[in-house]
Amino acid sequence: MVVVQSKTLGTVLDAGADYLAKRKVENPRIACELLAARLLACSRLELTTRLQGPLAENHLAAMRRGVKRVGAGEPVQYVTGETDFMGHVLKTDPRALIPRPETEGLVGLVLACDELWADKPSIVDVGTGSGCIVIALAMARPNALYMAIDTGPDALALAGENAARLGLQDKIGFACGDLPDHVEPETVAAIVANLPYVPTAEYERLPVHIRDHEPRSALDGGPDGLAAIGAAVLDAGMALIPGGRLFLEIGEDQGDAVKSLLAGSGFSDVAIGRDLAGRDRYASGRLVP
Ligand code: GLN
Repeated sequence: MVVVQSKTLGTVLDAGADYLAKRKVENPRIACELLAARLLACSRLELTTRLQGPLAENHLAAMRRGVKRVGAGEPVQYVTGETDFMGHVLKTDPRALIPRPETEGLVGLVLACDELWADKPSIVDVGTGSGCIVIALAMARPNALYMAIDTGPDALALAGENAARLGLQDKIGFACGDLPDHVEPETVAAIVANLPYVPTAEYERLPVHIRDHEPRSALDGGPDGLAAIGAAVLDAGMALIPGGRLFLEIGEDQGDAVKSLLAGSGFSDVAIGRDLAGRDRYASGRLVP
């Protein structure tokens, strides 16, 4: 009798991680674990209790397909079709930028601004993409008014799907276009935005999994990286109520430039904040009342 020894999850993860490491994929083990967790509908942590167990043929085949796609350069979050953002599972696909951990820091800054949450504030997420920022805020502070704007209808559709998955479809208004198209002057308490901020020359040098797969419109911020941020600061100056707040994600070399931009556009209390890696990543200010 021939006994076919099926592969264990552990050996499949090891082999997958080796394959991806050879193809210079960043964090190859994590990528394999994300694929397996999605396939087995469990958490990455739970995988550790199943390493000795066999992997069914269909799962093995799906794992191979996934590892191959990641090895060819596709971001693992587009292969699994989802990612975690502030404890919420969001759908990810090439319609929008994949939510990143540093953007959780931006949401954290907004949530920590006690004065903002004293009344029922109206908050607009400009360039919402996947919707991660506005969704995380609405989940944490349901008692506010939310609007999400994006110039891309595809991204906006994804944001709407993500909001619906979390039951927020009636809590967030979605609008396609620019801020002044949808918001009356002096009506908004806070604007939050993770706009494209990578200078074009740097964009060309981004890793393949970003440059060849994520939308350029979400990353390329023009020659100095500040085209979209500069426009948003001007728009925010009109849309915010006196004393209203602006929170931006910025590139690590843009702290000084964005600080002057805000100070020169009527904002006070201008602050530059750092991400967990200690790099300048956030800018905030309060419109002078
Ligand atoms: N942090 C992102 C990256 O470097 C850039 C995001 C953005 O431009 N808003 O991939």
